[in-house]
Amino acid sequence: MKKIILTGDRPTGKLHVGHYVGSLKRRVELQNSGEFDEIYIMIADAQALTDNAEHPEKVRENIIEVALDYLSCGLDPEKVTIFIQSQVPELAELAFYYMNLVTVSRLQRNPTVKSEIQMRNFESSIPVGFFTYPISQASDITAFKATTVPVGEDQEPMIEQTREIVRKFNAVYGETLVEPEILLPDNKACLRLPGTDGKAKMSKSLGNCIYLSDTPQDVKKKIMSMYTDPNHIQVSDPGCVEGNCVFTYLDAFCRDEHFEKYLPDYKNLDELKAHYQRGGLGDVKVKKFLNKVLEEELTPIRARRAELEKDIPAIYDILKKGSVKAQKTAAVTLSEVKDAMRINYFDDEQLIMDQAQKYKNK
Ligand code: ATP
Ligand code: MG
Repeated sequence: MKKIILTGDRPTGKLHVGHYVGSLKRRVELQNSGEFDEIYIMIADAQALTDNAEHPEKVRENIIEVALDYLSCGLDPEKVTIFIQSQVPELAELAFYYMNLVTVSRLQRNPTVKSEIQMRNFESSIPVGFFTYPISQASDITAFKATTVPVGEDQEPMIEQTREIVRKFNAVYGETLVEPEILLPDNKACLRLPGTDGKAKMSKSLGNCIYLSDTPQDVKKKIMSMYTDPNHIQVSDPGCVEGNCVFTYLDAFCRDEHFEKYLPDYKNLDELKAHYQRGGLGDVKVKKFLNKVLEEELTPIRARRAELEKDIPAIYDILKKGSVKAQKTAAVTLSEVKDAMRINYFDDEQLIMDQAQKYKNK
C-alpha cells in the first residue's frame, strides 16, 4: 500500500511556533525522508469559514500568509502538493455522504469540538458547518487515501472520528476507504504547546502566539512578558517548572548544544531546571536564553520568508497547480465512493440493462 500524508492548517492567521513544533517541522522532515509516496498539505479555508462565515476577508487574506509560512519552513512544492480546500469541490461532496454515517450525539461527544465551542462562546448558536467539521475533515483525509496524518494532540479526536467513518463506510458499502493513522510529535512538550499567557494551547484564536513571522523585537517582547511561576517572586525563591511556559518552550526547542553556545554554566536543561527549582535563578536569565534558542530556529525561516515575499504571484501559482493536482486525486476517490454507494447510475450499464429488462418483462 502507498504511504500518503494529508495534513493542513486553517487560514485564520499566520502560523505560530505551536504549529511549527506540533506539525510543520515534522512535515518537512517527513518530506525530506523520502519515505512517503505522496504528501498533500491543505490550506483549510472551507473549514476556517465554518466559524468565520462573516469574515471571509480574514480567511482570504491569510491564505498567502499560511503559504508563505509553509515555504519558509522548508516545504518544497516539488515534493509536496500544497492546495486550497475550497478549490476541490469533491471534498464537500464526500462530506455530504459521510454525514449519513455519523450521529449528532457522536459529534457532541467530540472533546475538541466541545472545547472549541466553549472557546468561541457559541453556546446554543453553533453553526451547523462548524459542528460537522470533523466530518469534513474525514473527507479531506480519505479523499487522498491518507495513511498518515501528522498533527498536534488536539486533532486526535478528529482522526478517531475519521477512522470510525472509514470503518462504517467500508462495512456498509464494501472496502473502499483507507483508515489513517495519527502521527503525533515525539516530544511531549510539542503535543500541545501552551500560549505565552500560560493557557493550555497556543492558538491563533486566543491571541497568545509567537508567530513564525514575528520580528526579533516582537519575539523578545513576548518572551519577556511570558507567563512563568506566579509564586517565583524573588530570584532566591524556589521556582516551579511544571506549567511554567518558559520551561515548556525550552522542552520543545532547546538542545544540549544550545547550552554550550549560549549558557555554558549549565550542561543541559535538567541542570537549569534543578537550579530554578532550588531557587537562585531569575526568570530574566531563563527568558534571555529561550530568546536565543528561538531566534536560532526563527532567523533562517524569517530570511526565507523575506525572499519569498518578493514574488507573491509565484506563490499563488504554486497553490493553483497544487489545487488542480489535488482535485484530480480527490475526483478518483469520489468516483470510487459513488461506485461503492451505487449512485453511479450513468456509468453502470448493467443497471440500465437490468431496468430495461424488468420493464420488458412487465
Ligand atoms: P484556530 O485557532 O483557528 O483553530 P490553531 O492555532 O488551532 O487555529 P489550526 O489551523 O487549527 O491552528 O491547527 C493546525 C495544526 O497545528 C494542527 O495539526 C494542530 O494540531 C497544530 N497545532 C495548533 N496549535 C498547536 C499547539 N499549540 N501545539 C501543537 N500543535 C498545534
Ligand atoms: Mg485549531
